[in-house]
This record gives sequence, structure tokens and C-alpha cells, in this order.
Amino acid sequence: MRKVALALALGACTLPACSQKPEGGGGASVAPPAGKQVVIGFSMDTLKEERWQRDRDLFVKHAEAAGAQVKVQAANSDDALQNAQAENLLTQGVQVLVVVPHNAKTTATIVESAHKMGVPVIAYDRLIRDSDLDYYISFDAQRVGELQAEYAAKHKPKGNYVLIGGAPTDNNAVLVREGQMKVLKPSIDKGDIKVVADQWAKDWQAVEALKIMENALTRNNNQVDAVVVSNDGTAGGAIQALGEQKLSGKVLVTGQDADLAACQRIVAGTQTMTIYKPIDALASKAAEIAVKLAKKQPISDATRPLNNGRKDVPSILLEPIQVDKDNLDATIIKDGYHKREDVYKEVK
Ligand code: BGC
Repeated sequence: MRKVALALALGACTLPACSQKPEGGGGASVAPPAGKQVVIGFSMDTLKEERWQRDRDLFVKHAEAAGAQVKVQAANSDDALQNAQAENLLTQGVQVLVVVPHNAKTTATIVESAHKMGVPVIAYDRLIRDSDLDYYISFDAQRVGELQAEYAAKHKPKGNYVLIGGAPTDNNAVLVREGQMKVLKPSIDKGDIKVVADQWAKDWQAVEALKIMENALTRNNNQVDAVVVSNDGTAGGAIQALGEQKLSGKVLVTGQDADLAACQRIVAGTQTMTIYKPIDALASKAAEIAVKLAKKQPISDATRPLNNGRKDVPSILLEPIQVDKDNLDATIIKDGYHKREDVYKEVK
């Protein structure tokens, strides 16, 4: 059953490229001959959160504008499937692999397989740990956590806090939490902030956050002042639990991604803030670097090394932006990330 599902998910191989063996196996270069189209493999964890569809569309758009072709696979949060899909992209002869890992550790195998075929690997948005990764392009995830916690600590300097982290398998969830704790620790040590619950939501699932929040409220007789939630999807779950206790809008809730639903909650007052990450900047930079790596061209961008447990990976980390109801128009709407009429649909 599982084998059939895997075969279906990988898809039948109908393109001419599928039958071709990549040139220069055994670790040699597979740069396309001059004039030949670059083919990029984009291996994604999931398309569940709204942002990933935007990432896919913009990455493909920018890569195509640079003359490349992109083959996209999404693994639905399944480690084995993601590895199999990446192998499949390699056998289709991609010259560079761009990976959004579901699992920061098990995807190291993908880097190994790619390198055996002379194919460089870029980790997109999420780091691949303990591997000889070529490049990492992301928003600064630790800064995301700092911005969430700075906002919470400024508006609720004292009180009971619930922390809801993301998927423990995602390195970003770990970095976000590190950033949050860096900011919150002094207030926790002073006793101003009391962490009454601290859990991680498997696969960033809203339903996990809902359960965590329901339990936290029950155990603390609804005495919760702030919920530091790591993204908007899980914030939605926490906000549902607050609504069940008639606490909507009474508790500070953070988020990340500027999902349309989250922006609507911000203007309605049930979510307090989000972190806006303009995806176009990430997708266009990743596409540009992917094409350059495939063509073996030099990359002149300023990078900063980020250690992945095995090496310092050349990294580009973009700046995230703190957004609440006061600057939503001047950021998200002004940039055209969402339309004003969509965000304010229910309130004005
Ligand atoms: C991303 C977030 C996203 C989360 C769940 C994280 O790695 O940085 O933007 O909400 O994954 O997909």
C-alpha cells in the first residue's frame, strides 16, 4: 500500500530528461553545456501553510525568468517520501537541488546523494543539519523569535505566559525558540514572567496547538496573559482554544507568516501580531543563486556563515518584520502581499 502511494506521489516519468543519466556522475560537475537550459529540482516539505504555495510560485517564476526549468515535488511532511522524491529529481538530471527540509537531520542523506552526482544543494528557508550543504537562504529565524518575544514582553511585561513552539524536526522551530528565550529569560529570571506551559506542535499542526492551549487554560484556571506562538497556523489553533473560553482578544497572541487568516484576525483583534517575511525576496534570491550554482558561476553576495553541526554553511539571512494592527497597512498591504479588501473583509 505504502509502496503504491510512494510511486503515485513520485509520479510517472514521462519527460525525456527522465531517461537520461546525469552527466559526470561520481561527484564530477553536471553544469549544463553553454546554451543548454538549466534544470532545477525544488524539493518541498509541504504546501500546507499558505506561504509555501507563494514560495513555490515565486521561485518558479524567478527561475523561469532566468531561463531555467523547475521540477517541483512536495512531500506532505513525510521524511521517507521527501528523500525518495529528491532521489527521483536527481535521476531526472537536475543540475542543482533546492530543498525545504521537513526533517533537518534526515535530509542530510539528500545532500550526500546529490554530491555523489556532482549536484550542489541549497537549503531553502530551513537548514539541513550535519551535512556538506552548499548554501542556506532564509529569513533570520532567531530574529523572528526575538521579534515575537520583544513584542510580547513590551506589551505584557508581567504575567503568565504559554509558549507554543513549532515542529521539533524543523531547525527553524529551534532557532525561533532560541530567539524567544534570549529575550524572555531576564524577565523569567526576575519572576516577572511565569512560563505556565511550554510545548512544541508536531509538524506545526494547528490541532496540536489547540490541544496544548486547551490543556494550558484548564491547568491554569484560564489565567494566561500571553501566548508566544511560533507561527500563524498554530496561532489559529491557540486562538480557537481561547475562543472556547470566551477569551478572544483578551490574551496577547503572537504569530509568524502574515497568512491572510492571521492578518484578518489581527484587524479583528483576536491575534495580536505576526512576523511578515516578504517571500518574493527569498524566492528571487534563491532562484538567482540556484541558477548561478548550476552554471558554476561565482556568487558575489555577502554571506554569513551558519554552522550546521558539520560545517559553516555560506548563508544569506533576510530580515523579518514585526507587524500588528498599527503597521499592517504600511507593510503587508502597501507591498501588495495581501489586498486591503481581503484583510478587512469582515471588519470594514
Ligand atoms: C517556516 C515558517 C512556517 C513553518 C511551518 C517554518 O520553517 O519558517 O514560515 O510557518 O515552517 O511551515
